[in-house]
Amino acid sequence: MEPANAPNIIDGNRIAEAILNEVREEVATIEGRKPGVVFIRVGEDPASRSYVLKKKKVSQSVGIESEVFVYPKNITRDELLANVDAFNKNPSVDGILVQSPMPGHLDESEIFNAIDPLKDVDGFHRINSGKLFQEDEDGFVPCTPLGVVEMLKRSGIATSGKHVVVIGRSLIVGKPLAMLLSRKHEWGNATVTICHSRSSDLASITRTADILIAAIGRPEFVKASMVKPGATVIDVGINRVADAEAPKGYRLTGDVAFDEVAPLCKHITPVPGGVGPMTVAMLMSNTLKAYRLRSASEI
Ligand code: NDP
Repeated sequence: MEPANAPNIIDGNRIAEAILNEVREEVATIEGRKPGVVFIRVGEDPASRSYVLKKKKVSQSVGIESEVFVYPKNITRDELLANVDAFNKNPSVDGILVQSPMPGHLDESEIFNAIDPLKDVDGFHRINSGKLFQEDEDGFVPCTPLGVVEMLKRSGIATSGKHVVVIGRSLIVGKPLAMLLSRKHEWGNATVTICHSRSSDLASITRTADILIAAIGRPEFVKASMVKPGATVIDVGINRVADAEAPKGYRLTGDVAFDEVAPLCKHITPVPGGVGPMTVAMLMSNTLKAYRLRSASEI
């Protein structure tokens, strides 16, 4: 029998599957052209290869048309922008995703901002950042933060009035997540503190969190001493840690020291099997949204 205070481990795979089923059902009702997304990868970063492959597989599984375009790591800025522009103009493409990280000579922000905002299913275009800021529901929200909020919602973990501490202020995770959770919205209305590498006495801040979200990129950074008993802990981190005994020579670890933190928590997400699958599910949901918005504007 489990101890009375066993944490509720949030099953990201199960929640993501439910979302994918909803997308699959809606896509199946579409007559004629199905939603379509293109994945652009530049160079051969191993993590990017596996992310893009996963995204393609999941697209296929829900009936969304997808194609992967791989460009050499020395592609010029102008060539890449010309390709993005061609996809912007292609009427059968609803979503465009350029996988990060890109090689150093490319300005990621410039590339993201070259994507048609209506096809920006990753939600990194400045127009979509602005829409999130202005609480305009027509915009695209980055998939990982969207997935975190959806996960809280579907797990019945209320955010309204709670103190949420987000460690990390990236454009991809930390900042949009803080913005979502502080919206005037049933699944917002939180008091949000954003922490980063210059925050002083981080542990004294994180210990006040009802919901602690780690998006740092440092394996097992969040220790038990940083967590308030009874808190909900969401681990966004995905870190590859060398492990000679693991089949691939590495294992995936989150930003939270799961074994010592979990016994303290009310709810916690594992890595893998937590936020990761939610990110891909929300990408499918965003692609369907892009299809809907574009179809509506053609009427
Ligand atoms: P970034 O490197 O862009 O941002 C990391 C953030 O953590 C920065 O704001 C940084 O602060 C902060 N940070 C770093 N060190 C410390 C520290 N010692 N104390 C406090 N804050 C610190 O990473 P991302 O946001 O892109 O990703 C974060 C993690 O989430 C990574 O492990 C990544 O792999 C994972 N990830 C997972 C996804 C998923 O689907 N589950 C999707 C996207 C990312 P500063 O700004 O001061 O440098």
